Amino acid sequence: MPAAAPDRPLIVFSDLDGTLLDHESYDWRPAEPALAALRERAIPLILASSKTAAEIAPLRAGLGFAHCPAVVENGAGILPAEGEDAGDGQARYAELRAALDRVPARLRRHFSGFGDLGTVGIAAATGLDDRSARLAAERRFSEPGLWAGTDGDKARFVEALAEMGVKARSGGRFLTLSFGGTKAERMTEITAALFGAGLPFIVALGDAPNDTEMLQAADRAFIVANPHGTPLPHLAGETDGTISRTAEPGPAGWNDAVLPLVSAWPQAGGA
Ligand SMILES: [Mg+2]
Repeated sequence: MPAAAPDRPLIVFSDLDGTLLDHESYDWRPAEPALAALRERAIPLILASSKTAAEIAPLRAGLGFAHCPAVVENGAGILPAEGEDAGDGQARYAELRAALDRVPARLRRHFSGFGDLGTVGIAAATGLDDRSARLAAERRFSEPGLWAGTDGDKARFVEALAEMGVKARSGGRFLTLSFGGTKAERMTEITAALFGAGLPFIVALGDAPNDTEMLQAADRAFIVANPHGTPLPHLAGETDGTISRTAEPGPAGWNDAVLPLVSAWPQAGGA
């Protein structure tokens, strides 16, 4: 791994599903030793997920990192630290829905966004239980949806939205619309907000293609094994040792990656 000045503070960014949370049970307890080490040293842990603020806030509190901001809706927005001003509520989401309403009806009818599906439809589309589906519906920055038309119409639909400044990204089953922003861009933004001109050593963990930019932008990154997911292709950083893969999946792999790194880090106080 690249040499880090011992006086550089550490900051950790992590995906949730399939990374810090077990793919099936959503359990994070195998990572508790590493999480405790982070808390003891006051090292920030920034959760970065496709989940909404409503979904992430209780998880973040349960993990003991409510004092840290989080990246929500796949980088489309930020959930501030608990107690800080969360901004303009659902204004951005309302703008997104308004843009959708301006797309020609012959294209629009093939797209079923979460706002069209409602809680019952979201539960059916995602496999979430009713309570989780309600939290997933509390969107602020992005609109995932199912596309049921042809590829040609999909291209025209995406183009019509692009003219209104809306970006579309396909991932898994969903086509997700937003005004832009990736996990990596939010990583830069949050690091600058927390450390100013001070240059922290950034560690990132993820398991899936939507984590790639974040992993590549970190000083040290770990691809957490996920036997259930789409395997990430070989990343350039794996050749020089900046990026490595965990043997164990989910929170056990997370712990194996983070605990030795944090335990060996000089106790510099953190943010
Ligand atoms: Mg994941």
